[in-house]
Amino acid sequence: MNLLEVKNLKTYFHSDAGVNKAVDDISFTIPKGKTVCIVGESGSGKSITSLSIMGLIDAPGKIEGGEIIFDGVDFLKLSEKQMRSVRGRDVSMIFQEPMSSLNPSYTVGYQIDEALRLHQKHLSKSERFDKVVESLELVGIPYPKEKYREYPFKLSGGQRQRVMIAIAMACEPKLLIADEPTTALDVTIQAQVLELMNKLQKEKGTSILFITHDLGVVSKVADEVIVMYKGHIVEKASAKELFTDPRHPYTQALLHSIPTPGVTKRKSKLATVDDSVDYLSFPKEIR
Ligand code: ADP
Ligand code: MG
Repeated sequence: MNLLEVKNLKTYFHSDAGVNKAVDDISFTIPKGKTVCIVGESGSGKSITSLSIMGLIDAPGKIEGGEIIFDGVDFLKLSEKQMRSVRGRDVSMIFQEPMSSLNPSYTVGYQIDEALRLHQKHLSKSERFDKVVESLELVGIPYPKEKYREYPFKLSGGQRQRVMIAIAMACEPKLLIADEPTTALDVTIQAQVLELMNKLQKEKGTSILFITHDLGVVSKVADEVIVMYKGHIVEKASAKELFTDPRHPYTQALLHSIPTPGVTKRKSKLATVDDSVDYLSFPKEIR
């Protein structure tokens, strides 16, 4: 069963210089309870894809066409008001930079509570307090009752990222979008955050769209992988197929420096891909 179906999505940026086709006619699905990874170099359209799903594309960007069908409902047909109630409740997103997405002027507890106040109106104040403490506990923040009253600057980078996950998970969304959530973290914290997302997925059946440029992370978390290049999907495959039998020359180039997953640990950054090759001239390998 698919939770999300993206069909022929086009998101363009218009400027005096012309049109930047940031996302150009992509289609993919996210099954219930599974993790789909989008991988691709910087500028390939990964973030614009996730912001399109969240309904967070602003001018000069514009969704020019396609469908984003979530549980049978086309997000692109909803009003901004309807999308506001979808965000945080059905779909939430963890952004790359935890500090800039937490508000420095409010306590962490207040900011987790905000999601509950918006989307779980039936809860009383004390029920919400218990839920916030529980979610801080769930993401592994020690002394959650005390941490409720702390301001973001008092927390470490890893703890802030955990708070972001707690906010994103507070209303138990069906889809969690994580846009390079571990890039700014050190390796140990990265592993903990990945483990945590995995645990939440197992407990709540959450679907995850995980965006990364780190193929080592992909090999750890992905059920399915989408490879993006210049706004296009050039290959779509199960994680196993992608690593054992990459078909598209661009995927092969990305994987070139990558040893078999599990065999070698960290040499997993994307290979530098030869800019002089036009990979869009090859047929797409969408399986
Ligand atoms: P990725 O996340 O894969 O690194 P993005 O999705 O952020 O890439 O960007 C895809 C393309 O859209 C890039 O060419 C980028 O320059 C362009 N783009 C992204 N955001 C904006 C914006 N606010 N205004 C104009 N162009 C943008
Ligand atoms: Mg990005």
